[in-house]
Amino acid sequence: MRCIFCKVDSSSSRSVEHIIPESLGNIDHVLPPGIVCDKCNNYISREVEKPFLDSRYIQERRFNFGIPSKKKRIPPMEGFHLQTSTLIHLLKVDGEEGISVCAGPNTDESRWVNSLLSSKAGTLILPIGEKPSDKVVSRFIGKVGLEVLAHRALDDPEILDEIVNKTELDQLRDYVRMVTVSRNTRSVNGHREMLFFERNRRLNRIIE
Ligand SMILES: [Zn+2]
Repeated sequence: MRCIFCKVDSSSSRSVEHIIPESLGNIDHVLPPGIVCDKCNNYISREVEKPFLDSRYIQERRFNFGIPSKKKRIPPMEGFHLQTSTLIHLLKVDGEEGISVCAGPNTDESRWVNSLLSSKAGTLILPIGEKPSDKVVSRFIGKVGLEVLAHRALDDPEILDEIVNKTELDQLRDYVRMVTVSRNTRSVNGHREMLFFERNRRLNRIIE
């Protein structure tokens, strides 16, 4: 068995790969160990999924739709209480109705609560999360796309092999794993000829 991203032998890999991360609520669409090798699995989780999931925009979506993390925690939403200049957190608890508001970390909570008790109205400001960059989104979608392809071929080892061998998919693999392409020049018959060669085709160094 070979990894659909780096093509190395992945027979001894142990981790399953969630096509859509578990933190977005996916427990059904999973690739068995080895379709994505352990090294690529770690790399993708750290460099492709995390920047996407950590973006404020996605955090907000998770809060609004109440999507809990693997640890059953819905990410809090940050905000600001205008009258007291206090950073606040909005909290939702998985399976419970309603939203709680509390003072953010490193904030004098009792001062804030006392000021709330003595005021009749106030304003909470909730900033709109900036969308993740095109690069972050496109690498994430590239990863999902290649994994969906493999998922559809799970019952057919020949098609899985074809997915691994297909050179047409190499650019996509390299983009997801950010393989650097080195350029070099040499002189041939008096002409400068541009040579392209791919370094770290197997990506070991980048993933480590
Ligand atoms: Zn791999």
